[in-house]
Amino acid sequence: MFDLTDKTAIVTGANTGIGQGIALALAGAGANIAAVGRTAATETVERVRAQGRRAEIIQADLSTVEPVDFIIDEAKEKFGRIDILVNNAGIIRRGAAIDFSEEDWDAVIDLNLKSLFFLSQAVGREMMSAHQVDGRIGKIINIASMLSFQGGAHAASYTASKSGVAGLTKLLANEWADKGVCVNAIAPGYIATNNTAGLQADKTRNRQILDRIPAGRWGDPLDIGGAAVFLASSASDYVQGHILAVDGGWLAR
Ligand code: NAP
Repeated sequence: MFDLTDKTAIVTGANTGIGQGIALALAGAGANIAAVGRTAATETVERVRAQGRRAEIIQADLSTVEPVDFIIDEAKEKFGRIDILVNNAGIIRRGAAIDFSEEDWDAVIDLNLKSLFFLSQAVGREMMSAHQVDGRIGKIINIASMLSFQGGAHAASYTASKSGVAGLTKLLANEWADKGVCVNAIAPGYIATNNTAGLQADKTRNRQILDRIPAGRWGDPLDIGGAAVFLASSASDYVQGHILAVDGGWLAR
């Protein structure tokens, strides 16, 4: 049920952090990896190949939707099929709402929400065509956030983007669940990556965060891997439009 042998997974932002953790976990379950991102995912590709799976770098800057067709063409040319899409690439810009700039609004929304939607649309078309040919089911996994559920503070565009990701995940599931495409999301809690390096370094914030996490520790990118394998595999064929929190219990508080 959890076997991904010979499936192809596109993972965006695969060079580091959660994207790298997910790519390694999917490869561990048998998938080949199209490692998409702005920075070449050299280390990820080497580690996937060391697991005996195929991996290729597709370098693309998703701050605009311009590379979407290129990504699809490259993935099809290199692997011949697309079974899984993990929309992981994302950024955060911090600042009080009262002073928040248009630049910080657009940069986050364009990558975290707009490119996620148009890459999903393009991959969704491929998955629906493949489903019509042989009945296979495609899997799209969006990376959401605690701020898909909560308001947070000092991250207006990030909260808007991740709340939008949760809404889009449900909308796409509603439209595509009977067309051979499963769309779900993972909402990571506090995971130790570049994205959260500032929070980890701030002794007061770090203590406040740890005190609120029932598990009592930051998550590791590999903690997200199991949920990704589940949502990428046939084990989750009847799971649609779900936002799966992997948060050490944060939301249970
Ligand atoms: P990260 O280590 O900063 O990784 C972000 C990834 O996105 C990197 O691969 C980065 O590539 C890529 N990226 C950024 N801008 C891009 C662009 N314009 N085009 C293509 N790729 C781009 O952060 P992370 O924590 O692993 O974040 C991964 C996802 O998880 C994000 O969507 C984030 O919002 C989400 N998330 C993280 C946490 C957490 O606690 N860490 C919690 C909830 C959700 P470069 O290396 O080239 O910048």
